[in-house]
Amino acid sequence: EVITVQELAGRMAEKASDLVKALFNMGMPITVNEAIDQDTAELLVTEFGHIMKRVSDSDIDIVHDEETEKDDPATLKPRPPVVAVMGHVDHGKTSLLDALRGENVTAGEAGGITQHIGAYQVKTKKGGVITFLDTPGHEAFTQMRQRGASVTDIVILVVAADDGLMPQTIEAIKHCREANVPMIVAINKIDKEGANPQKVRERLLEHEIIVEAMGGEVQDVEISALKKTNLDQLIEKLALQAELMELSANPDRPAEAVVVEAQLDKGRGAVATVLIKRGTLQRGDTFVVGAESGKVRAVIDDHGKQLKKATPGMPVEVLGLSGVPSAGDVLTVVENETRAREVASYRKEQQNKARTTQAPVSMENLFSSVAADRAMEYPVVIKADVQGSAEAIVTALTNLSTDDIKVRVLHCGVGGITESDMQLAANSNAPLIGFNVRPNSKAAAIGKRDGVRLKYFDVIYHLTADIAKEMAGELGPEI
Ligand code: GDP
Repeated sequence: EVITVQELAGRMAEKASDLVKALFNMGMPITVNEAIDQDTAELLVTEFGHIMKRVSDSDIDIVHDEETEKDDPATLKPRPPVVAVMGHVDHGKTSLLDALRGENVTAGEAGGITQHIGAYQVKTKKGGVITFLDTPGHEAFTQMRQRGASVTDIVILVVAADDGLMPQTIEAIKHCREANVPMIVAINKIDKEGANPQKVRERLLEHEIIVEAMGGEVQDVEISALKKTNLDQLIEKLALQAELMELSANPDRPAEAVVVEAQLDKGRGAVATVLIKRGTLQRGDTFVVGAESGKVRAVIDDHGKQLKKATPGMPVEVLGLSGVPSAGDVLTVVENETRAREVASYRKEQQNKARTTQAPVSMENLFSSVAADRAMEYPVVIKADVQGSAEAIVTALTNLSTDDIKVRVLHCGVGGITESDMQLAANSNAPLIGFNVRPNSKAAAIGKRDGVRLKYFDVIYHLTADIAKEMAGELGPEI
């Protein structure tokens, strides 16, 4: 073991809790204060999009991508801003995205067919182009960020004027703040009776968002996505914000892009919509994307038009992938196919390794599907003497779940602890709870060999108290 999770997080400039989550997802429930070895550290560092150097057997160094490969300032050219729309459900994110896109079609290309590829571009009156991520909500945003791929330059925070600040509004504000992404507040549905834009502005103050109308610096605009009111103003404000940010990228280098969405298409095979971060992607380029590789067979824009190449800030569909990558995966053009396949197969191996240490799916998982998807999971294996106890334990443990950590019952059965119970607990790094039962000798041997944490109880109250304490420990100290 060379470094604690906490220390590694510091060096990577990431949040320790995000590292703990990533480790957990790789099947390693490790707390912030525990140390990990070089291999694990490297896995994590790569996962977050950085590069790790082994300085010696006992020391490592983190190289941030941007540092190593920063483009020479002289090569940088302006690029369009990438805008995401966030806000509470039903506040009008989809309507706004549709309206902004519709504006574009009527203003621009006659009869242009729009393809929903996960992102689109709008040409503003002044001539500047804006790229919109067409997946409303926070999932895409956080998913990409978890992979170290931040593509969003500006967020439009949609708040319905008749409904005001709601939980997902506040969550969106939190995301923007953490990612350090500026936002523009679009107060929507001003056409509705009962709309109270001023109240929205006042409530935003409570979250330290001071909009222009209140003398602050965050731009705000009253709109109606339905009636298409003030959309030009919104676009103008976006353009202004983008101008301030002086966004640029080097177009003259092998392309680097981020996957916005991807799927298997019946006729076309694996298709990914990517957003070009820098460089120019061309037909015929060889690339690695996540654990997949390929050769660009076609580059298609958001109007279904085939292009020869795509430049920074452009969202395009790419054909010619070996398989379907995940949103947030980075596509990198590499020199040759051998290299591409090497990198892809290495990554696949790592993924498989992580997967086999994860628990198999079972009926009892329905508890975890109820749980919010971003919470950590605390896996357990339960054996009890009678069905009634088993059920009572599952209920009691499920009640321990919080927003941050959820109990996940991998298996719950009646009878003595068997070899397969031990195996399951060992493979998924879960404690094995025996309620009035003990393992047979073979199972005991496996448990000892694999270091299974065995917990015996005969009182449910003691059991829940113990697990509650463990779960709190798993989360680590608040940071
Ligand atoms: P999302 O869940 O944030 O994507 O919200 P939607 O775009 O699906 O909108 C939710 C509902 O609000 C739909 O019924 C829309 O027609 C309606 N809506 C969206 N924008 C406006 C608006 O500006 N005015 C009014 N009156 N209704 C709107």
